[in-house]
Amino acid sequence: MGKTDKKQALKLRKTHPILSIVCTVFVSLLAIVFMVFLGLVAYRYLIQSKTNTQTDKLKTMVRIYDQTDDKEGIIPTLAVISDSFYIKDKDGNIIYSAGDNTCDESQPSESSLFPEEGITFYDDKAMDLLDDDPAFGFTIDTGDLDSKTIGEIVNDREAVLKAPFWMSCKTVSGDTIYSKGNLEFSLHDTAIILAIALLAAIGVIVVIIVVIVRVVANIRDRRKMHKLLFLDSVSDDNNWMRYLITTEEIIHKRRNADNLYAVVNLVFVNYRNFVLCHSMEEGEIMLRKVYETVRANVGKKDVVAHSTSQNFPLFIKYRDKEELRMQLQGIISKLEKVDPDHRFSFHAGVAFIPAGRAEKRSLDIDSVYNHACAATMTLEDTDESGIVFFDDELLKKQLWIDKVHEKQAKAVENEEFIVYYQPKYNPRTNELCGAEALVRWQSPDFGFVFPGRFIPVFEKNGFITEIDHYMLDHVARDIRRWLDQGLDPVPVSVNISRAHFIENDLPEQIRDIVDRNNCPHGSIEIELTESAFFDDKNALISAISCLQEYGFAVSMDDFGSGYSSLNSLKDLPLNVLKLDAGFFRGSDDEEREHIVVAEAIKLAKNLNMKIVAEGVEEKETVDFLAGEGCDMIQGYYYAKPMPGSDYEMRIGKKATDLVELAPVEANEPETAKEETTVITDTETVPEEDTKDDQAGI
Ligand code: C2E
Ligand code: CA
Ligand code: CA
Repeated sequence: MGKTDKKQALKLRKTHPILSIVCTVFVSLLAIVFMVFLGLVAYRYLIQSKTNTQTDKLKTMVRIYDQTDDKEGIIPTLAVISDSFYIKDKDGNIIYSAGDNTCDESQPSESSLFPEEGITFYDDKAMDLLDDDPAFGFTIDTGDLDSKTIGEIVNDREAVLKAPFWMSCKTVSGDTIYSKGNLEFSLHDTAIILAIALLAAIGVIVVIIVVIVRVVANIRDRRKMHKLLFLDSVSDDNNWMRYLITTEEIIHKRRNADNLYAVVNLVFVNYRNFVLCHSMEEGEIMLRKVYETVRANVGKKDVVAHSTSQNFPLFIKYRDKEELRMQLQGIISKLEKVDPDHRFSFHAGVAFIPAGRAEKRSLDIDSVYNHACAATMTLEDTDESGIVFFDDELLKKQLWIDKVHEKQAKAVENEEFIVYYQPKYNPRTNELCGAEALVRWQSPDFGFVFPGRFIPVFEKNGFITEIDHYMLDHVARDIRRWLDQGLDPVPVSVNISRAHFIENDLPEQIRDIVDRNNCPHGSIEIELTESAFFDDKNALISAISCLQEYGFAVSMDDFGSGYSSLNSLKDLPLNVLKLDAGFFRGSDDEEREHIVVAEAIKLAKNLNMKIVAEGVEEKETVDFLAGEGCDMIQGYYYAKPMPGSDYEMRIGKKATDLVELAPVEANEPETAKEETTVITDTETVPEEDTKDDQAGI
């Protein structure tokens, strides 16, 4: 997982849903306020348009009053304009009046929402009683009400709803005219107002519903997102992301500074097989059982997660490493029997988090877990359960793997890989009859490195295909050169790793590389390690047949070091069988060893195959193999792997009298040690000098 992913997940985890809820509610409230405001504006517009005619009447009355000197005489004229009015002098005494005086002067302007300049509004006394009797004060002028249906009344533009009010305006003379007015709404208007009010109410309700739905959806979305980000679908509990975040929170807490924690990579070894034999669903059920068993057997504050298929990262607080080992052993014992019908095995790789606040602060759980994985990887070749603690040795190994990875591409570019040739001899004639090309790395950074150190790394990281092509290319080039020099080179076998067999066009690739160098196909033999024979047999058979059609001999390397060699021999049309060096490393029962080797040679002969014995160091072994009819021997007895220049001398000498040749001192440790550091692989470091002289070469 990338660091940015983790940061974003952390951010998401910390942002509380309440914030987004508050935002949504706030925005919705704004929308409601806006709607109410719009309603009020519409209301004001309506009221103003209704009061305008009334205030105009009052203003006309004031104008007439001011223009007339005979104030009393004008009263009947004013009465034509307004039914009810009265006039007060400067001192507040009523000097003229007409109609009913029902003006409530106690609350000027308050009964009207939108006062107009120069005019003061008052409630009508009749309206004051509205609270007690809502119908009181309103008059409905509908004509012949009794003969109309409600629908007709509503649609009747003549029918009006009258709301009385009073208004006053000062005259120039200082007197004040009070006049009654009526806000007149036709029932049609009223229906429109009600409809607008209803629509506004519906709008508000809709907004409220939308807000609620949004808030609920928001909470649900967040839950889903949390589930996707932090929950594993199999265990329905912690996934890798949550594991990382939780464990980092734990180690960064001040109070946990002195605690000791272990990061464990627990691997369900048989999971893939189980899924193959059963089904994905059953596999998941089993993973869940494993998860629950682990969860039940660690502390409450320990963290358990399920990351990818068979991997369970654990984070365990411990006091003592041996105690921890026992705890893990106990868990694994339970897990082995997690299903009564099966016996499973589990690997646990353990890496440790040091005590101390500063140490913990600079720690990255990701890399500690990588160490735990590196520890489990050391158990990769066994199907038995096991626990491995990551230590300095493993750290060195891990660093080496990283360094090799970092340098490999440049090394090919700079031609740092060198072809060494190990000759093969006919044990009866002591004649050179072949060679195997073996890679060496002359690195400016690491010195002289043996393949045992880097080939396994390349096999894991996939770079092996690159190296094998490189070797084939260089061998074909060397053979071409030797031919051009008039030498008579013997066939050279080149190792081709099993990793190539995923490529369908492997035979064509090999042919093209050899052809590019104009090298005869008969001079190249392809060595396949026995492990390649476990893969897709049909693909292998067709690749072998194809290579043979192109004229390349194909050999099975390391025969006898694995399990199903005999079985493979049955189906595969091979040309050469290479007996593994293990046969000649000395056995407690030499007689039995001889029987097995003799039978293997017979078997190869019967199958029309040539036989090469590898790793032969003793004269007695050579004599025995010669007696049994072994075709070739490749071993220190005759020669160690040597640089191309030294091997070239051997081909040259092959043409002349073999017996008279002096032994060639061309062996790697000596050659290499003189120049640089030698990084060896203990199994393959030649310790003795060659027996060239003993062989009389
Ligand atoms: P291998 O293919 O089985 O090669 C034979 C190994 O046995 C060589 O080790 C050789 O030096 C060693 N050997 C031969 N005779 C004797 C003997 O009498 N005594 C002892 N103690 N050892 C002997 P080397 O060169 O270190 O190679 C180790 C392995 O690395 C090879 O085993 C092969 O699997 C791999 N390898 C080497 N070069 C290549 C390559 O170009 N491609 C691939 N894919 N693998 C390679
Ligand atoms: Ca080989
Ligand atoms: Ca071999």
